[in-house]
Amino acid sequence: MRRLRRVKILATLGPASETRPVLAKLFEAGADVFRINMSHASHDAMRERIRMIRSLEAQYNRSIGILVDLQGPKLRVGTFAQGGVDLVKGAEFWLDSNPEPGDIHRVFLPHPEILRALRPDHFVLIDDGKVKLQIVSCEPERSMARVVVAGRISNRKGVSLPDTEIPTSAMTPKDRSDLDAALNEGVDWVAVSFVQRPEDVAEVKKIARGRALILSKIEKPQAIARLEEIVEISDAIMVARGDLGVEMPLQQVPGLQKRIVRLARKLGKPVVVATQMLESMINSPVPTRAEVSDVANAVFEGADAIMLSAESAAGQYPVEAISTMDSIAREVESDSNYLPLIASLRAVPEPTGADAIAVAARDVAETLDVKAIVGWTASGSTALRIARERPRTQILALTPNIETARRLALVWGTHAVITQDARDVADMSDRACQICFRDDFAKESERILIVAGVPFGTPGATNMMRISYIGPENDVP
Ligand code: PGA
Ligand code: MN
Repeated sequence: MRRLRRVKILATLGPASETRPVLAKLFEAGADVFRINMSHASHDAMRERIRMIRSLEAQYNRSIGILVDLQGPKLRVGTFAQGGVDLVKGAEFWLDSNPEPGDIHRVFLPHPEILRALRPDHFVLIDDGKVKLQIVSCEPERSMARVVVAGRISNRKGVSLPDTEIPTSAMTPKDRSDLDAALNEGVDWVAVSFVQRPEDVAEVKKIARGRALILSKIEKPQAIARLEEIVEISDAIMVARGDLGVEMPLQQVPGLQKRIVRLARKLGKPVVVATQMLESMINSPVPTRAEVSDVANAVFEGADAIMLSAESAAGQYPVEAISTMDSIAREVESDSNYLPLIASLRAVPEPTGADAIAVAARDVAETLDVKAIVGWTASGSTALRIARERPRTQILALTPNIETARRLALVWGTHAVITQDARDVADMSDRACQICFRDDFAKESERILIVAGVPFGTPGATNMMRISYIGPENDVP
């Protein structure tokens, strides 16, 4: 099975998509990677979903990516004696360390390190910004705030702190145990939420030790401030527009999306655009015009993947949401402005052999109109650098490693096939031709371009390019 689309679809799983038949429909409709959100899944639920995805993979004989998303330091207020309070504008309200139920004057903030980090003038947003407080004065154990935007706060509502650098790591004890469980299951990608600093990513990478790749969710102003360093150290990036739009002015989100996508493309890191892409499809079988434009815009920008959240996890139309995304993406990719637009955002190559060859491969492939650029790749990095070029020509990644094939499910334009390492140059060419023929990339007497590193099996040594013809012997599938 081969997708006729370059951008990948990342679908979040949840109650609307927990049975195997629904999962199979999501995959058939176009999901390339599934996201398991640990804010809502137990370890058992995670393992059960992974088991089902792996069995689908075997049934369809296609590598499917699995991304486990760690909840991160999601801050919440405590409870109220009355279940909630209505705060009026201008009122004083205390956040403190007293675990007793709150009232109209105060509430427990069960995060002592946050109480110590708050400073006068910092904003405190409650329930996705529905209520806005501003700190007036601070003591070590409590802070007094004034209500700037009035509204209701009820038990355990979420707290966002756009101005406060949170002094703890992005990984809570729950995240640590979720991470270990996910690594034990051999997941392909781990997403880190509320990243603030490159060190947050380094910490997770150190634990993962290459067993999974690390995706950083950009959803805090502190991460925007150190964006370049964070993208550099991460294996992939998510434009997490949900929390980003709470912690920063909403009108800045489109510009930030463009900045993050460009930077990730420049550094050759897969980038996912996420949240509210087809939000109305939670309850409706058709999207709004604005949503269609939003999805199309992300595809036109050259994002690697577009994501569905509640649409596929908890909505009434999970399969329709994916097929809608799929058809929008395919339409955009056949638009005459698509290739010129993504090409205009192409970054200059880095001075490495791999990049020089990736640029040359795109050039040769487009000049000769070959049917595929085939990259032999052990770690996936050769394929990533070719994808970074966003060539017009389809990309086929051949790898002996199932983990690599699964990870590449998130990468723009890349179709990965598992096959043993090439023995020699003849084998490298023959097998590339056979697989191109079998998977419908090229027909007899058409040409493909092969990129590889010799000696075979040594990672990071991309150093050759070869044009091959599909011969008649490949007619036997
Ligand atoms: P979430 O992340 O769905 O885990 O909150 C995405 C976002 O914030 O946009
Ligand atoms: Mn988020």
